[in-house]
Amino acid sequence: MHSFAFSTTHIYSLTLIYPHFLDFPACIRYYSTTIILTILEYYKEPMLKSNIITIDGLGPVLFTTSLRAKYLSITIKPDQTVKVTIPKRVSLTTAKKFLQSKIPWAKKHLNRLQKLQQNYAQTPLPPINKSKAKTALTTRLNYLAQKYGFKYNKIFIRNQKTKWGTCSSKNNISLNMDLVRLPKELQDYVILHELVHTKHKNHSKKFWAQMDKFVGDAKRLRKRMREYRLGVG
Ligand SMILES: [Zn+2]
Repeated sequence: MHSFAFSTTHIYSLTLIYPHFLDFPACIRYYSTTIILTILEYYKEPMLKSNIITIDGLGPVLFTTSLRAKYLSITIKPDQTVKVTIPKRVSLTTAKKFLQSKIPWAKKHLNRLQKLQQNYAQTPLPPINKSKAKTALTTRLNYLAQKYGFKYNKIFIRNQKTKWGTCSSKNNISLNMDLVRLPKELQDYVILHELVHTKHKNHSKKFWAQMDKFVGDAKRLRKRMREYRLGVG
């Protein structure tokens, strides 16, 4: 079932990525490490979608096939799961071999992650200045509402445990005070998300089309928001 468009030499380049490691006090929540293998293998066999496979010396590993992925990559996620993303042209065998060759790398990062998480657990986040946060978020909401022609009823800035923002049926918008800890781009994403809900009460195609107009690729931002899950860590 194998067919190779090129020779079977596998490793062409290795890249380590440490994204936004220090730009936020709670950096450990967002620790994520990826190693990438550029590969020229051409593979036609239908692949598994997502599967947990136990790897000697590492334990359970999540293997996921991605239609969009261009590279074979290994990611150590904040919850200490190891994930191997497999582009559609790469076989599971190759993915496993790649992981086998990177076990020391994965272990090193798992250890580092554990240490950081222990340190993080001992260092609470610095408190938010509530009145400053309220002013900043209200000002930004008003600015964006005016800029894009939205009307809302009331605004509440709260310490919410599970949500970044809500928009009620009466168009009252609640924003989570913790938003001020996020990058500006994501603050705007949440605020605009709630503003667009004043017109679209669901997450329909129309809703996302309008979001895209304001923020570019809204779903990319929605994905980034997942890195900042509430109630974790
Ligand atoms: Zn929504």
